[in-house]
Amino acid sequence: MKRVLITGGAGFLGSHLCDRFIKEGFHVIAMDNLITGDLKNIEHLFKLPNFEFYHHDVSKFIHVPGELDYILHFASPASPIDYLKIPIQTLKVGSLGIHNCLGLARVKNARVLIASTSEVYGDPLVHPQTEEYWGNVNPVGPRGVYDEAKRFQEAMTMAYHTYHGVETRIVRIFNTYGPRMRLNDGRVLPAFIGQALRGEDLTMFGDGSQTRAFCYVDDLVEGIYRLLLSDYAQPVNIGNPDEITIKEFGEEIIKLTGTSQKLISLPLPTDDPKQRKPDITKAKAILGWEPKVTRAEGLKITYEYFKSLSQDDLHRLAH
Ligand code: NAD
Ligand code: UDP
Repeated sequence: MKRVLITGGAGFLGSHLCDRFIKEGFHVIAMDNLITGDLKNIEHLFKLPNFEFYHHDVSKFIHVPGELDYILHFASPASPIDYLKIPIQTLKVGSLGIHNCLGLARVKNARVLIASTSEVYGDPLVHPQTEEYWGNVNPVGPRGVYDEAKRFQEAMTMAYHTYHGVETRIVRIFNTYGPRMRLNDGRVLPAFIGQALRGEDLTMFGDGSQTRAFCYVDDLVEGIYRLLLSDYAQPVNIGNPDEITIKEFGEEIIKLTGTSQKLISLPLPTDDPKQRKPDITKAKAILGWEPKVTRAEGLKITYEYFKSLSQDDLHRLAH
């Protein structure tokens, strides 16, 4: 049985990856310090003999007994309000955390896949973003702690690949959504759906003309799985290129939820990227991958998930 370590395994994406690797017949070790994650996301796996959970901060030395075939480094605060609240931990998990994972990979002779991000492109001057674009990041702006940690993480990963011969894969993930997102993580989808469910107005930042392109989580997981098993060590964008303005997105959520509330405009956060859309030519050519789930389908599933949360959770996780 192949063995995989998933850091950030109790988070939104990490927990979906745990499910996928279990389904593929792997022994899965999830490691998480629960700083933004939740054991609820993986509690259904606890009874399985091929699943283990380690409560550990990956910015500290990592010890895992036994063999490892793969390491997926997904530990990191991921939403702007999370990494603004815990900027130093964000920088540490992107730097010390990946160093520990790569060191562990050398000892175990394991392949490492890192969760990079479209944020390495910053507020992009090239549209849509190809992997060749080097980005437009403000290192000392509020988002710099996340963006620069991820850029460092890519550089460190490439250095271990080049100098130590470690097998590495880099996925640049674009905005992804689905069940198990935290209601109060501040990202636009849980913010809008939570507000609609509580009967509050939807808080659109700026005039809503900024764009994003949203990928359903199952599509992302499929892309990551294919990349891990491929022989391609350069970064690959995985995301859904169906671009939409945040204003249009808010209107879609209003229609989906049937709320009688409206969009209100709040100030745009500093350095908020004005446009974002992945160029997925590489993923198509190298992995034979493209997204399958439309936004209408994915939003419906995600809305059902949020609706199934208790009233208590809905209000406890309000902001
Ligand atoms: P999340 O906050 O739900 O998950 C992150 C997990 O990492 C949490 O369970 C958290 O407790 C854990 N973690 C954080 N610091 C840790 C540490 N020092 N030690 C151990 N565990 C730690 O966020 P997510 O959306 O699932 O994001 C997962 C990864 O994917 C992140 O690396 C993020 O940067 C990347 N990513 C996500 C998106 C997206 O749209 N969701 C986009 C681009 C990149
Ligand atoms: N946004 C918004 N209202 C919110 C939360 C976010 O209008 O309550 C906007 C935000 O300014 C950004 C877009 O939605 O332009 C996506 O934000 P998110 O935090 O989800 O992701 P990121 O900016 O990291 O892509």
